[in-house]
Amino acid sequence: MQLELPDPCLIVLCGPAASGKSTFAASRFAPTEIVSSDTLRGWLCDDPDNQGINEQTFALLHQIVEARLGHGRLTVVDATNLEPKARAPLRRIARAARLPAHLLIFNANEQTLRSRNEARARRVPHGVLLRHRELAAALEADLSGERWDGVHRLETASLDDVQVHRKPLAPLRLEERGPFDIVGDVHGCLTELDALVTELGYEDGRHPQGRRLIFLGDLVDRGPSSVGVLRRVLPWLEDGRALFVPGNHDDKLWRWLQGRGVSLSGGLATTVAEWNALTEGEDRELRARFDRLMQGAAPYLWLDGGDLLVSHAGLEEPDHGRIGAAVRAFCLYGKTTGREIEGFPERLDWAADYSGRPAVVHGHVPVRRAEWRMNTVDIDMGAVFGGALCAVRWPERTFVTVQAERSWVQGQPRWETWTS
Ligand code: ATP
Ligand code: MG
Repeated sequence: MQLELPDPCLIVLCGPAASGKSTFAASRFAPTEIVSSDTLRGWLCDDPDNQGINEQTFALLHQIVEARLGHGRLTVVDATNLEPKARAPLRRIARAARLPAHLLIFNANEQTLRSRNEARARRVPHGVLLRHRELAAALEADLSGERWDGVHRLETASLDDVQVHRKPLAPLRLEERGPFDIVGDVHGCLTELDALVTELGYEDGRHPQGRRLIFLGDLVDRGPSSVGVLRRVLPWLEDGRALFVPGNHDDKLWRWLQGRGVSLSGGLATTVAEWNALTEGEDRELRARFDRLMQGAAPYLWLDGGDLLVSHAGLEEPDHGRIGAAVRAFCLYGKTTGREIEGFPERLDWAADYSGRPAVVHGHVPVRRAEWRMNTVDIDMGAVFGGALCAVRWPERTFVTVQAERSWVQGQPRWETWTS
């Protein structure tokens, strides 16, 4: 059996004494990845069984787990973790670190536990084993109120068959090397998109020098041909010819397609009108393909050995390599105050003091001119507002723009003028 776990993440082992947790961990993870309550008790008082120092032991355990996750390191907690109050702080620490938390439950019948316990040097009293068995039996019901990113049930009797496969967190695509051409917010401007990719030297999404397109999201809304843009780029994204991160408009369309109550304001109405004109068969096909795209899309991509990070609305350095609802929200909407100015969300200039390693290329906020600032760049030059569709070449860091034919929006956006 293959057990797939994200890397990095927090892995919480959970099972009665003698259910095989430490043996399992030792053969699948590096010693420094395993934080064991027994080992910590040993360090504190030379007695791994001294239950009298549990308070100190677990305070230390939590501190180490928090610090390791802070460094973005996969961490395995080896303790019985049978009581909800033992698991809750671990989940909290993982959530605060914006990393996934997976629970590995070790199931064993009493007979197996007893014989394994008898066979080892460090024996646990029989009464303790029975109590652990009871707690383990209650796990099923207990877990309903616990939010884990994955719960995996392992049978103690067949642990030898379990192979751990580590899968990098979805945004971590460091091995994907450029060169890339990164395209800003298209918003249904199909003519400009076709002109831009031709100018960049692509034919049907392929480049003779093996360059690849990356779309920064907001493919749809406001412009004349959102469905046309989807039809153009989906084949490229589906076979990996091009890469994509979702924008807030793509996300809103996705929610509309799922029948979730979203307002058609802010540009969605044009896409919905196009969508409603599709035949039933076209609707079904495009819906399925768009759904697959959004389902599989990481909120941001960290590429090129760590030198490049692309996200629709950017990403602050502490969130690089992290995941979760808050990170996704930042990628879609950027840093906002929750207030509005002239009907637009008030934005905070997260890039002003950016000093992270990767160059961050983003869109989302229309600017008159794309400019590198603190190793970040906003390349949404407002094509749909009559500005330009812009791409940045990577690693060259140069811009290629196609002037928009016209504006598709009444009035003007609030052009942002980020100051460096
Ligand atoms: P505790 O909570 O007390 O630390 P544990 O869950 O870590 O217990 P282990 O000490 O790993 O359990 O295993 C209990 C006993 O079972 C040990 O003697 C170990 O050698 C044996 N054991 C563990 N895994 C296996 C296995 N896959 N096959 C056979 N024996 C095993
Ligand atoms: Mg153990």
